[in-house]
Amino acid sequence: VIGVTSAWRLALAGHEVVIVDEAETVASGASSANAGMIAPGHSFPWSAPGAPLMLARSLFGRQRRLRLGGRPDAELIRWGTRFLRECGRRRSRRNAQLALQLSMYSQDLLDQWTREHGIEYDARHAGALYLHHSPRELAAAERRSRLYANERPQRVLGVDALAGVEPALSNAGRAGVVGAIFDPADASGSAAAFTNELGRRCRDLGIEFLLGRRVEALRRSGNRVTGAVCGGDAVEADNFIVALGAASGRIAKTAGERLTLYPVHGCSASFPVRDSAATPELPGCDETDLVAWSRERDHLRMSTGAVFAHSGPDGEQSHLESIRRAGRHLFGDAVDFDRPVVRSGARSVTPDGVPVIGRGRRNANLFFNTGHGHVGWTMACGAAQIVGDLVEGVPPRLDAQPLRAR
Ligand SMILES: Cc1cc2nc3c(=O)[nH]c(=O)nc-3n(C[C@H](O)[C@H](O)[C@H](O)COP(=O)(O)OP(=O)(O)OC[C@H]3O[C@@H](n4cnc5c(N)ncnc54)[C@H](O)[C@@H]3O)c2cc1C
Repeated sequence: VIGVTSAWRLALAGHEVVIVDEAETVASGASSANAGMIAPGHSFPWSAPGAPLMLARSLFGRQRRLRLGGRPDAELIRWGTRFLRECGRRRSRRNAQLALQLSMYSQDLLDQWTREHGIEYDARHAGALYLHHSPRELAAAERRSRLYANERPQRVLGVDALAGVEPALSNAGRAGVVGAIFDPADASGSAAAFTNELGRRCRDLGIEFLLGRRVEALRRSGNRVTGAVCGGDAVEADNFIVALGAASGRIAKTAGERLTLYPVHGCSASFPVRDSAATPELPGCDETDLVAWSRERDHLRMSTGAVFAHSGPDGEQSHLESIRRAGRHLFGDAVDFDRPVVRSGARSVTPDGVPVIGRGRRNANLFFNTGHGHVGWTMACGAAQIVGDLVEGVPPRLDAQPLRAR
């Protein structure tokens, strides 16, 4: 979704664009595996004052919601050290504001582009729910939601009010839910449907897709990148945008650029709906079990998993079991949890939860659009607009300085 939106932004302005992707189809990475939430109201970075304790409990406690896929390498140690630094109150507030501003800008652009160009993507615009299983967690979430109070007023709902907003959650109390945060302006939609449709429009604008072509390295001369090396050939261009999701850091390194990114794998499963009235219309996330969902026509898509690892997919079966368990608790028999379509992908995550959108430090014609973490679908259109502005040398509407390569 990040590559295709970036290409679209540039092609609309008349640039000649080529997309190179090792996959045979568009939207096959994280952009097909996500939960489908368009959630500026949930764009809080993972680095926050309570995160180190939560991380320790998750990594080493009984309930392993976050996992390491192998032994920590030097890169993960560097990433983790920076992550801890970003967990202080002042930095985490600043990062949360940056993520929110970009996400809201992006949501506006997504609405504008899809309306103007008639793009269908299973959109739902009635808000999103964030469920909690303990009063203490709910109170902490309420305090956190105050960070967004000016731009994004959110409401706390008890279980009765929750059932009023989303009747499919009328049994949530029995599943241990004590309440929820409701963001009335959050939304959902299929990132894969959007990306595929935008891909078709890109072809109409003359964008060339080189699919099934793996970029092995970037070739440099002086302070410029001259080609993206794929097999024996190199794709040449005036400017290059690295939007390779979780592989971005590795390819950046070949051009002498170091980005602090780490891949965090997860998976989603789509299940056929049996009883439409008892299946949620609103997207949501069970913040205790870390399972998110959104409705797509006659399916419910649910996702989970945060495995820090360079290679994957890892633990797909255990993720699927967690999704099924949470789904059955919340939605009972409304959904056929025995017939999943499973997809895996990796988020590209920065320690501060702020994406990397900007020019490289060593190459004048190399740009990055990556590191969107758990909200890349939410941020895609805004990030594409900004990277396009930077390529053209026009000032973006949001200050891009904090997003620079770092
Ligand atoms: C389980 C899960 C749930 C999520 N839920 C949400 C959500 O509800 N809302 C939200 O906003 N975000 C969510 N996200 C995050 C969001 O999906 C990602 O941030 C977003 O999809 C990133 O898009 P991308 O284009 O950068 O990466 P990807 O979609 O992974 O695309 C990267 C592309 O690069 C290609 N590539 C990689 N290496 C090479 C190479 N060497 N040569 C050529 N091509 C290469 C891949 O084939 C792929 O097509 C979720 C992510 C996961 C994993």
